[in-house]
Amino acid sequence: MPPISTSRILFSSVVAATGLACLLLQPPTARAWGNEGHRLINRLAATSLPADVPAFLRSQEAVEEIEYLGPEPDRWRSAAEPELNAAQAPEHFIDLEPADALGPLPRRRLDFEAKVFASGQRPEKIGLQPWEATEVWERLKAALREYRHLAAEHQDTRPVEQAVLFYAGWLGHYAGDASQPLHTTVQYNGWVGPNPNGYTTEHRIHWQFEGPFVAANLHEPEVRARMAPAKAIDGDVFDAYVAYLRHTATYVEKVYQLEKAGGFNGAGTAESREFTAERLAAGASMLRDMIYSAWQQSAIAVPDPYAGK
Ligand SMILES: [Zn+2]
Repeated sequence: MPPISTSRILFSSVVAATGLACLLLQPPTARAWGNEGHRLINRLAATSLPADVPAFLRSQEAVEEIEYLGPEPDRWRSAAEPELNAAQAPEHFIDLEPADALGPLPRRRLDFEAKVFASGQRPEKIGLQPWEATEVWERLKAALREYRHLAAEHQDTRPVEQAVLFYAGWLGHYAGDASQPLHTTVQYNGWVGPNPNGYTTEHRIHWQFEGPFVAANLHEPEVRARMAPAKAIDGDVFDAYVAYLRHTATYVEKVYQLEKAGGFNGAGTAESREFTAERLAAGASMLRDMIYSAWQQSAIAVPDPYAGK
């Protein structure tokens, strides 16, 4: 064992202590809805699926698994997995202002990334939310198609059922993030640019709203009461998802107005609790409808790419 000087030991422990203090003081920003909000959104979606989805998706085991997976992509933000963190962090948000400045959103992730790079910017600064959500939804649909196939062949469906639950729970994270207005804008954590209404410029509002305020004040009954009736998504899922994000973005200024009125301190106000319950409910309704649509659309026959080969 090489000799270690006392000063070096002292230096190491100071660094370690400082690092620990930083970790403790630093709010886990940009996680959208925190642990409680994400679990709630996923649980509400899983417990409100229409009766014509397969029973395995509505079982108690399914509800518990989907709920557990609500915060799953936030578990990929650790410094212990730096490559994963860097690749997936942009999938939680999209700043619509700079994204729209580049023209219509392309349907495919790599086409969008190419546009961003060509403009001299980086995709991780603008965000990749709708592409990740659409891709995970397509994974879910593919797994449900396989489930139908195995069930029709009277084969064991338990392995594919596990995959379906994982994709459904994973998808819930993004559908949840996308109901949080501060995940759709450059105004994500403190107002930037002209500020005639005097909104907060502190880098605090994001986590204050989605984390401690939700954990302390929002519960299942009032959120469930604000969910929309279940419906399959009409038409194209990417387009529907982008429309959902754009609707969420209409509430960006509202979040700042509520913050200014003290709406996210302590128990907040009746208006801030109502607003937040509605936003969580919007996320749960969207997840439920996306799972339902994946089930319905998984019935569409796909030509066998290997036929005749
Ligand atoms: Zn997230």
